[in-house]
Amino acid sequence: MADSPLVVHCPTCQAPVRWEVASRYRPFCSERCKLIDLGQWATESYRVLKPRRSSRTVSGNRLALS
Ligand SMILES: [Zn+2]
Repeated sequence: MADSPLVVHCPTCQAPVRWEVASRYRPFCSERCKLIDLGQWATESYRVLKPRRSSRTVSGNRLALS
């Protein structure tokens, strides 16, 4: 198993990407594909997360302190 590197497919363009340290943008094939994918879901989740971020931080701190 150690000699056969895991190959995943880039979520953006479906190109095969070897899952290894050299593939720094894995599971994406390139920085461009990573930014495209992150940009898509970040735009969506940013609107949802931002209003709740302060309350989530407070509750998280309380949990950490107790
Ligand atoms: Zn890609």
